[in-house]
Amino acid sequence: MDIDAEEEIRTRTKKIRDKHKTFSQWQGAISTIFVWSMLGYTYYTIVFILCYPLIQGVDITDNASANGGDINIKDNLNPHQMKLFGMIAIVIYHIFLVLSLICYLRTSFSDPGYVTAEHVQSLAMNVVNSTPRNMSTNTPASTRYCVYCDLDKPPRAHHCRGCNRCILRMDHHCVWVNNCIGFNNYKFFLLFVNYILLLCISVSVLIVLRWVLFGGFKSIPKGNVKHIQLFITFVLSFAFAGSTFMLAVYHWKLWLTNTTTIEDLEHKRSYDLGSALENASQVCGEDSHLLWLCPVRTNNRDGLTFPEVLIA
Ligand SMILES: [Zn+2]
Ligand SMILES: [Zn+2]
Repeated sequence: MDIDAEEEIRTRTKKIRDKHKTFSQWQGAISTIFVWSMLGYTYYTIVFILCYPLIQGVDITDNASANGGDINIKDNLNPHQMKLFGMIAIVIYHIFLVLSLICYLRTSFSDPGYVTAEHVQSLAMNVVNSTPRNMSTNTPASTRYCVYCDLDKPPRAHHCRGCNRCILRMDHHCVWVNNCIGFNNYKFFLLFVNYILLLCISVSVLIVLRWVLFGGFKSIPKGNVKHIQLFITFVLSFAFAGSTFMLAVYHWKLWLTNTTTIEDLEHKRSYDLGSALENASQVCGEDSHLLWLCPVRTNNRDGLTFPEVLIA
């Protein structure tokens, strides 16, 4: 092949890669706007429509009131119960919201584990020095070459077309957090999915409890704007809880079998160590299990070598 033809192929490949990257960036930007809009709307309804009026001792059921649509609580409602419920609701909501936001930001803005030349060098050194027993670290024969990054791919690393980089222990590229999910941020992603699930469930339950405990469904006047806003928030959070639950269950399975989404799609199970606890430790580390629930890094591994079950 002459030099011109090679150059043309290289230019064409680069254009395709740039197109993938731009498309992925647009997808990520739209998803990010959607996520923040949803969080903003839910925050407004839960804090300013559900909790704050209860804490202040006002009811939102009468639009005719001169007080911005609110009237003082009715005789049959206990003001202390309303205040207590409002305060508990606002605390529960903020706990799950803050945890979800920290996990979201850490997943979104972490280096997921971009493969560098130093990684490849370090991997070569690891393989030379390793003395496997009943398990083995991966050998050079199992490393693959990435033509786009011009680097050897460590075991479990894959090239992401969205990021245009190779990622250590790549799981998938997530448009919702606009980042790749790899070795460095998989724990944050896992926690994000679980905390956002708890946030959606808590929002749905708090809205239903608000209706049931204070007045009942029959007391809700037709066409009341604030109750309609609460209803919209309930429907959205309930729907999100359903879809997030399915995603969470899938990732619990992957976590407890030490498998990535890519490996699962390829039906590979060579890193499943047989014990759910050992598999979970591969992601969250072997130290304090309580820290597993916190959005901090607890895994001291390098993301280059992994215990692999030997197939006899
Ligand atoms: Zn690559
Ligand atoms: Zn990516």
